[in-house]
Amino acid sequence: MNWNRRVWTWTVVLMIGIAIPAYATDDCEPCEEPEDPTLVSQGSDPCRPKAEGAEVENEPCKECDGAGGIQNKEDGASCKVNGKDGVCCDGVCYEVPGEGEDPCDWASSNQGKFSQAIQDEVWGDTNCFGYVVCINGDTTECVIREHIEGQNSDWTEEMINCVCVHELNHINAGANCPPCGYGVGTFPDAETKKQGECEAYKAQWECLDDIEPETELTRSAKNKYFEYMLNDLNCPVMPDPFN
Ligand SMILES: [Zn+2]
Repeated sequence: MNWNRRVWTWTVVLMIGIAIPAYATDDCEPCEEPEDPTLVSQGSDPCRPKAEGAEVENEPCKECDGAGGIQNKEDGASCKVNGKDGVCCDGVCYEVPGEGEDPCDWASSNQGKFSQAIQDEVWGDTNCFGYVVCINGDTTECVIREHIEGQNSDWTEEMINCVCVHELNHINAGANCPPCGYGVGTFPDAETKKQGECEAYKAQWECLDDIEPETELTRSAKNKYFEYMLNDLNCPVMPDPFN
């Protein structure tokens, strides 16, 4: 092989190397060649943009919009992320709990998906008995059994359930959740937070009050929450112990 031939060979190889990826782009635009009327009149296919809904490489939650651009897939469309089932939200694929999997259990075993602040505030704080988990805007009330049992090993299931009632009250009051990804329910400001906690503790207190028969255990839990609401939260509306 003489020098000229070698250069020629490598030039061809290089050109093919450039041409193949250019041709195989997964974007949504028309093909590279401009629409050639002579080719079209011979029956060749004109260069049209990819159809709406055509897949975009390495973007599980994006698709062609049919006009040469890229658009987000509909929120809620299923997708795969690292081989796991996910759901699209605002063009991003988020892993979600599997079919029938409890969102609270899922969150607890996927703590790393939540911000460090949330990890510290929820699972890292043994005084945190419950929280509202947000997964792509879906809310679920959760209790942290280990934290409750760590401080109240004698609480019954019914008493633990009253923590659930507290968190459910936050959901029904419209706890703020990020629309996409992972978070916990929050309040817009300190005043709303105080008000929200007062209402949630009132619901929890009333739940404890409904447990029959009243025991020393439920009575002392109710007293503790009553004092907390009165002295720490300064709640404007207190539960009625004689109701
Ligand atoms: Zn609360």
